[in-house]
Amino acid sequence: MLHDAGLFLALVNPAIASLLALCFLFAWHHERTRPHLLQLGACYLLAAAAIGLQIAWPPRAGGGTATVAGALYLGSAVLMLRGMLARIGARPDRCAAVALPLALFGMVAWFDLAHPSLVARICILNVGVALILLTGVASLARLRTGRTVDRVLFWVYLVFTLQFLPRTLLALAPAAAHDAIVLPPAACWLWLQATLALLLLALGLALLAATAQDVIDDLRHERDTDPLTQLHSRRSLEALAARQIPPRPGESLSMLLCDLDFFKFINDNYGHSAGDAVLAQVGRVIAAGIRRRDIAARLGGEEFVVLLPDTPHEAALQLAGRLRETLEQTSMEALPGMRNVTASFGVATLRPGEDLEALLMRADHVLYAAKSNGRNCVEWEREAGLPALA
Ligand code: GH3
Ligand code: MG
Ligand code: MG
Repeated sequence: MLHDAGLFLALVNPAIASLLALCFLFAWHHERTRPHLLQLGACYLLAAAAIGLQIAWPPRAGGGTATVAGALYLGSAVLMLRGMLARIGARPDRCAAVALPLALFGMVAWFDLAHPSLVARICILNVGVALILLTGVASLARLRTGRTVDRVLFWVYLVFTLQFLPRTLLALAPAAAHDAIVLPPAACWLWLQATLALLLLALGLALLAATAQDVIDDLRHERDTDPLTQLHSRRSLEALAARQIPPRPGESLSMLLCDLDFFKFINDNYGHSAGDAVLAQVGRVIAAGIRRRDIAARLGGEEFVVLLPDTPHEAALQLAGRLRETLEQTSMEALPGMRNVTASFGVATLRPGEDLEALLMRADHVLYAAKSNGRNCVEWEREAGLPALA
């Protein structure tokens, strides 16, 4: 009975590893820009091959199977390390990815072919795999402060890595008694197989969940970001404004609308791509000139909007004045002779009961007045009764 359960668990492990390998390779097929998926697919494939090899051809002393299985296990560990690090844009150092696995492989081969010893091979492989995976923990530690999937992934990876150490001791008990890889169906061996199946699955699922979240977040970012300026898109502005309107009691919400002056002239004289580069630089100037909680978006064309939570009319006017001056003094990298561009600004503050569209319309109205007044200036609703800015 115990033996049957052990055999079942032994077969479950390569099956789980193979399925996970297929999942990662399938995901990579659709997301070629994420090479870590290929590395993780290959990692689980090697793990499945290593476990399967040991079941199909239990190593005999000096037979060489253990050497091949050892190479597959070590390769799988290196690929896991590379895949985990590649996902966060990091790389393992050469020692962890090349020198250490080669040294470990040499030792496994020695204790298989020259001086066959199952005990030595178990120690080398388990401790070695743990060491290879541990070299990535310092870089991966940043996941602890990330999204929930990242935090879960980090801890599952750490548990997966560290369990190879107690696993060594558990595996050694029966191995010391019978120097053959077909270990007796002891309870500890069942425990080893079951925990390996569980951890292989947990780590694979955590990795797939983190990758799914990466893809969702990237798509969200693409949807919500204007590709040219990296500011919010109009859709994102609407979604974020819905959280700010109506403002909290006692707070006021202001908006400044900004339209570049004579932008058609720039396109016509310097080309559309120079115009695009100017828009991108203006986006950077705006982003650098506002607070973190302000929401800057490109409405389309050469028109920008900044929503200013908890900002009274006067403060919004001051900010618009500062941005106008900064822009006027900024040399545009894409224009010959580093020419400057100017912009006209319209400022409005939300009235009770108003929505985003109504506020935009009023800001647009005063922006039109700024254009009529000669451009390169800030305009606002005169009934607000504020002094004109210089
Ligand atoms: P005004 O001072 O009255 O605002 O004049 P203007 O030339 O800035 O305004 P107009 O509306 O006449 O022209 C806007 C130009 O912006 C026309 C259009 O080709 C250009 N434009 C719109 N979107 C883009 C874009 O994404 N990239 C580039 N390079 N140009 C764009
Ligand atoms: Mg314009
Ligand atoms: Mg315009």
